Amino acid sequence: MGTKGIEIVDMDVKKLINLLNKAYADEWLAYYQYWIGAKIVKGPMKEAVIAELNQHATDELRHAVMLATRIIQLGGTPITKPEDWYKFTNCGYDAPDNPFVKEILKQNIKGEQCAITTYKSLINQTEGKDPVTYNIVLQILQDEVEHEEDLQAEMEDLEIMLKHSRK
Ligand code: FE
Ligand code: FE
Ligand code: MG
Repeated sequence: MGTKGIEIVDMDVKKLINLLNKAYADEWLAYYQYWIGAKIVKGPMKEAVIAELNQHATDELRHAVMLATRIIQLGGTPITKPEDWYKFTNCGYDAPDNPFVKEILKQNIKGEQCAITTYKSLINQTEGKDPVTYNIVLQILQDEVEHEEDLQAEMEDLEIMLKHSRK
């Protein structure tokens, strides 16, 4: 840990590390939800959805790396046990037990909307207090906003397609 780097943080560092660990737990669960969803999804437009889910899985894993790096810079320890992901998570985990493409999209849209709320709150709490963390959570929020839009666009296309095939 860099002492001066921590000294300039104008907020409770322990509390900040805890908030970052909660987001870190969310990212691992989101990563796995996308990764396994891409493996088992079934239904129309599957190929396009699989590509999107895999791309998002990669992004969520990158977010986990960004958060772990910042937690360590602040003198903290990223969660070491997967069982603790469930204790820390804000957004939880939706098991894709129904592999129908529409259901998987619905679950992941819900997850992204929770992520957007989480990062907006982290942005509000770090703004003007910790520019380094602020910059990281802002970058992540930009990705989560893109993720939500990508999934909602897939859902829209799917609904149009299902509507036409019913006629
Ligand atoms: Fe993420
Ligand atoms: Fe996301
Ligand atoms: Mg995408």
